[in-house]
Amino acid sequence: MSETGHQGQGGDTIDPPMAMLAELTHRCPLACPYCSNPLQLKQAKDELSTEQWIDVFDQAAKMGVLHLHLSGGEPASRRDLVELTQAASERDLYTNLITSGVGLTEQRMNSLDDAGLDHVQLSLQGADAQSADVVGGYKGGFERKMHVAEWTNSCGIPLTVNAVCHRRNMDDLDTMIDLAVTLQARRLEIATVQFNGWAVRNRAQLMPTSEQVAATTAKVEAVRERLKGVLVIDYVPADHFATYPKACMGGWGRIGINVDPTGLVLPCHAAETIPSLTFDNVKDKALPDIWYRGDAFNAFRGTEWMQEPCRSCERKHIDFGGCRCQAMAVAGDAAATDPVCAKSPLRDELRANAIAASAGDDTQPFVYRGRETVSS
Ligand code: SF4
Ligand code: SF4
Repeated sequence: MSETGHQGQGGDTIDPPMAMLAELTHRCPLACPYCSNPLQLKQAKDELSTEQWIDVFDQAAKMGVLHLHLSGGEPASRRDLVELTQAASERDLYTNLITSGVGLTEQRMNSLDDAGLDHVQLSLQGADAQSADVVGGYKGGFERKMHVAEWTNSCGIPLTVNAVCHRRNMDDLDTMIDLAVTLQARRLEIATVQFNGWAVRNRAQLMPTSEQVAATTAKVEAVRERLKGVLVIDYVPADHFATYPKACMGGWGRIGINVDPTGLVLPCHAAETIPSLTFDNVKDKALPDIWYRGDAFNAFRGTEWMQEPCRSCERKHIDFGGCRCQAMAVAGDAAATDPVCAKSPLRDELRANAIAASAGDDTQPFVYRGRETVSS
């Protein structure tokens, strides 16, 4: 039974989280130049054990979580992935595997199906082997993904294709969309690269031009209409050229909860970039205690913490002031208005910097995490 009726600051009711992102591991055979995982990855030796993860899933289900995203790094790097999926499924959690596909075999896919896996989200780093393997920094990765899509379809598991778009691939969007249709994906998520984590190191190579952003937005609109009933397209447009920010995480501490590979519980994937916050660990505290009463979750929950212009803004219940991590990174203050907002005093500077980056040399090789080698 879920805990309900908790009161937050300002008297708002705190509902249980709807979705949990379980970052099972930070290990990953790929090295995407925009990887959003922290610069300092958590080590395999510090990861939660099988039993500890199952206990987290148990607590999550009891407190009312409905969706469980099994993510990473590459979740297939965990040998116990089938066991974890089965445990989650037995607790009636809707399980979504977010994977690069590398590390999955046909047999493992069948075992995941038997374990009750509900959905697969497969990342694509490019529309063909040559470009995808350069971006992912992994030779043969594209071919593996094609097989994973096939096995997923054979199992009858719904497939979503995830594509991060950026300066170097935005002009290939048509090919990416055609590929998603060929792979029989039901949904395509096109997310414009976010400049946190490793993406900052490859800013010039990845920052789209404002013309690319406008063309992509128009194309998505047109293709959505053309592919109605065939493919659903979710599109996350570029931040830097937007008027208002997105409701990051659907609002801080409102619908989503993240657990990192070591059991640290975070209000968002990048929350550790905010130095003033301290985070609880599932090894020390019960999950509901952390969600309802944890300092990090209550720091930016609701609207009481807001400064002007957010405090008196008519959109404060729509976007919740945007992204706290972006405010921290650009304004140096996690409680500031998200600098992508037209009402932020930093917006013009942010946009000018983005335009300058997008006019730079994008032919420079990517810088890959943990590797000396670079590739064009
Ligand atoms: S973004 Fe790429 S490198 Fe990072 S975890 Fe995902 S697949 Fe691995
Ligand atoms: S001022 Fe704050 S609440 Fe208003 S639109 Fe901008 S970020 Fe959103």
